[in-house]
Amino acid sequence: MARIQSIRGMNDILPSETPQWQYLEACVRGVLSRYGYREIRFPIVEHTELFKRSIGEVTDIVEKEMYTFEDRNGDSLTLRPEGTASCVRACDQNGLLYNQIQRLWYTGPMFRHERPQKGRLRQFHQIGVETFGMAGPDIDAELILLTARLWRELGISDALTLELNSIGNAESRADYRQALVDYLTGFKDELDDDSKRRLESNPLRVLDSKDPKTRELLVAAPVLSDYLDDVSRSHFEGLCARLDAAGVSYTLNPQLVRGLDYYGLTVFEWTTDKLGAQGTVCAGGRYDGLVEQLGGKTTPAVGFAMGIERLVLMLETLEVMPDEQAQADIFIVSVGEKADIEALKIAEQLRDAMPSVKVLINCGGGSFKSQFKKADKSGASVAVVLGEDELQGGQAAVKPLRAGQGEQQLVALAELVNTISKNYF
Ligand code: ATP
Ligand code: MG
Repeated sequence: MARIQSIRGMNDILPSETPQWQYLEACVRGVLSRYGYREIRFPIVEHTELFKRSIGEVTDIVEKEMYTFEDRNGDSLTLRPEGTASCVRACDQNGLLYNQIQRLWYTGPMFRHERPQKGRLRQFHQIGVETFGMAGPDIDAELILLTARLWRELGISDALTLELNSIGNAESRADYRQALVDYLTGFKDELDDDSKRRLESNPLRVLDSKDPKTRELLVAAPVLSDYLDDVSRSHFEGLCARLDAAGVSYTLNPQLVRGLDYYGLTVFEWTTDKLGAQGTVCAGGRYDGLVEQLGGKTTPAVGFAMGIERLVLMLETLEVMPDEQAQADIFIVSVGEKADIEALKIAEQLRDAMPSVKVLINCGGGSFKSQFKKADKSGASVAVVLGEDELQGGQAAVKPLRAGQGEQQLVALAELVNTISKNYF
């Protein structure tokens, strides 16, 4: 019978890759907890309306990338394409937003129906960070400092660049929008089809077009930074002053707009040239209007999300992972039913006595020779050997598997755990 394969763009993450994932996740968790961030978890499926209303009807995600389906009772549901909207929904619904401050993070799979390629999947994973209740540029700066620290701790900061922009508050964007429409209307026939449509429905989206001809036209287009009002300008200057003081370098990119509609004021991306075309590993910004847009009360908010697959690719490309650990430290070789039973018992005793030592039992029989092969492969430094002869004498053999650890010795079962922990670990 034909085998059933996984869905294109939805990958298995194999045991040879999970150490990289766990290393990255542990590093992120560590940094986040040192900054006082707390984890939140929310469902993978939400009402479609949540994403339409937050991300925006005229965005790549909502127009063509969402996994939307009808529930059995006819509700339109969507696999989450990102976490911010769900996070806002969860916080609002559970009373976490008003008269309080939140520093939150989450991780998990996101789903977008894109063309699968290196660094671009249909099920991918993000670690997201969202903060609520803080309106000033200090928190924008904190988020950026936090990410900069993370890159240093992972050993990848040399390969990353911070791009920064302010897309202004709603008033500034309204002024700019008009100027952009006036400019682009003059070249309407030369725009790509998506951009033509967006010129009517959501002109700022045109700035995000990947079409070369459209990009050329955008070079001479009005830039948002010239349209910032005093409030927007002072927020951005406040952020830049803080980054300067903290010694974080950045590149101002006046074309940076982000692919989601809820952003305002600060937007930023960390990019690399080590991954080819999919070079953005972390992106975020301020979204003070989103809570209200989703039916709550106005709440200042800023956050970002990083793509785990792209960061893992970076760890691999730059070879910054610590050495892989062996699967076991002690391997218990046992031959015969009695010995197998004893092996299980001894393994538990060893784990009780040495919580940080990895103990593997043989399971499934086999000759001494074949079991020693497995012991070698496991990377263990010590084998405990249980055969009928040894057991009859109330003993086990302890055999060092690496050079320089001395000779094999026979040890009384009652002394076994003690001897191993004293001499080898
Ligand atoms: P891109 O410009 O690469 O399409 P985006 O602006 O759509 O990214 P965001 O929605 O801001 O991305 O998501 C934040 C991060 O999540 C990205 O910077 C990237 O690292 C990662 N990411 C986004 N889409 C994918 C995907 N399809 N596959 C793998 N990672 C992704
Ligand atoms: Mg995208």
